[in-house]
Parts: sequence; C-alpha cells; structure tokens
Amino acid sequence: MQEPKSASKLEYVRGGAIHACATSTLMKTGAWRVFKPVVEAEKCKQCKLCYWYCPDFCIQMTEEAIKIDYDYCKGCGICAAECPTHAIVMEREED
Ligand code: SF4
Ligand code: SF4
Repeated sequence: MQEPKSASKLEYVRGGAIHACATSTLMKTGAWRVFKPVVEAEKCKQCKLCYWYCPDFCIQMTEEAIKIDYDYCKGCGICAAECPTHAIVMEREED
C-alpha cells in the first residue's frame, strides 16, 4: 500500500489517524441538519440548561435571550427536550 505524501488536516491517512488536531471549527456540521432549533424568546427564563446540555457547545447566552450558532448546530434536539419552559421548538429545515 502506498503511503500518503503528507498528513494535511483534510487529507485521509492510513488507519484514519488524526494528525492535525483542533480542526472542528473547519467542519461546519450545521450542513447535516434536518431539523433546527428555534427559540421563542418570550418563553426563555435564561436558566442555561440548553447551554449546558448542547453537545456541540453552539448555544450562546446573551443579555436578552439565547443565540444558536447554526454553522455548528446538528439539530439533535437535546436543547428542546431539556428546556423546562418549551422555549425551543424544532422546525424542519427547508430544502
Ligand atoms: S433551557 Fe429554555 S428557558 Fe432555559 S435558557 Fe435555554 S431556552 Fe431559555
Ligand atoms: S439542536 Fe443539538 S446541536 Fe443544536 S443547539 Fe440544540 S442541543 Fe445544540
């Protein structure tokens, strides 16, 4: 088997080993999403549960309400499931 010439961050190497760390910002995982979380700000009590539960760390707390970074949100729905006031609803992405 031929060895890869280099191990650049976006090049696959033998065994799938990762040679360039901290590349997650390059992977805009929001493109995979089928459903997206939408915040109804008037229902948000700023409890931060969604912030702590989001596995992708893409919820930011602002002065008024929460803000979701759709570049990285995968639409898993965990934030909506954990919100005690049902302030987050999952809506289907448009094609
Ligand atoms: S879990 Fe719900 S109420 Fe709590 S901060 Fe998030 S959106 Fe607001
Ligand atoms: S849907 Fe999932 S990835 Fe997106 S903000 Fe909610 S918990 Fe995070």
